Amino acid sequence: MIQLKDIKKIYNKNHSNAFEALRGISLTIENQEIVAIVGTSGAGKSTLLHILAFIDSADEGTYMLDERDVTDLPDKDKSQLRTGEIGLVMQDYALVEDFTAIENVMMPLDFDRKNKRKSREKKKLALQVLRQVDMEDFSKKRCNELSGGQKQRVAIARAIVNNPKLVIADEPTGALDSGNAKQIMEIFKKLQQDGKTVVFVTHDMNIASYADRIIEIQDGRLIE
Ligand code: ADP
Repeated sequence: MIQLKDIKKIYNKNHSNAFEALRGISLTIENQEIVAIVGTSGAGKSTLLHILAFIDSADEGTYMLDERDVTDLPDKDKSQLRTGEIGLVMQDYALVEDFTAIENVMMPLDFDRKNKRKSREKKKLALQVLRQVDMEDFSKKRCNELSGGQKQRVAIARAIVNNPKLVIADEPTGALDSGNAKQIMEIFKKLQQDGKTVVFVTHDMNIASYADRIIEIQDGRLIE
């Protein structure tokens, strides 16, 4: 699914305060694998995740996604990949708080220009993904009335509504207690059974142990 070769990221390049946050990351992630990225604060985890999700781009190296070289794609193509092929889950859920759960889940369907579904079909699809994360009964609740765990499940439903092959999550359980965190990991396992690849960052080794493989970053380098 993912092949990174010698990825480097230098912040403030060509300035006196230039900082090499990633110092040559080479990594292969297989289809339907669940991978946890761990490491201390400042190690480069978010930088790597942002490159994988096309939020930022690398300064050197190559990035192959699904056997396609996506290293130097134009922004337009990157944003299309971001809406269609990658589901992004953030620690703070990034939901529109005064919209209902189903309204939040339907949002990416409107962003995807290729997607010309009718409103009724969109609702049906959104309900279907809410069911996958066991949140169907809360579809009409506004997000500011939901608990943290419930919000994260809605955020996952929103991330998968366009049926992406890859789900990328930045500290998805960082704000949750262990019971809710476990539920999120069980949802990731279900996504894997549905054919998806999941890459997430965590600093909690208990949570990382749900992954098929744990990758540790230290000072911008992978360590085994
Ligand atoms: P982690 O997610 O592991 O905590 P980050 O990827 O956020 O680490 O950051 C890696 C390093 O890059 C840190 O030293 C951080 O200070 C630095 N860094 C991150 N973002 C920027 C930026 N926009 N400008 C300059 N330095 C940055």
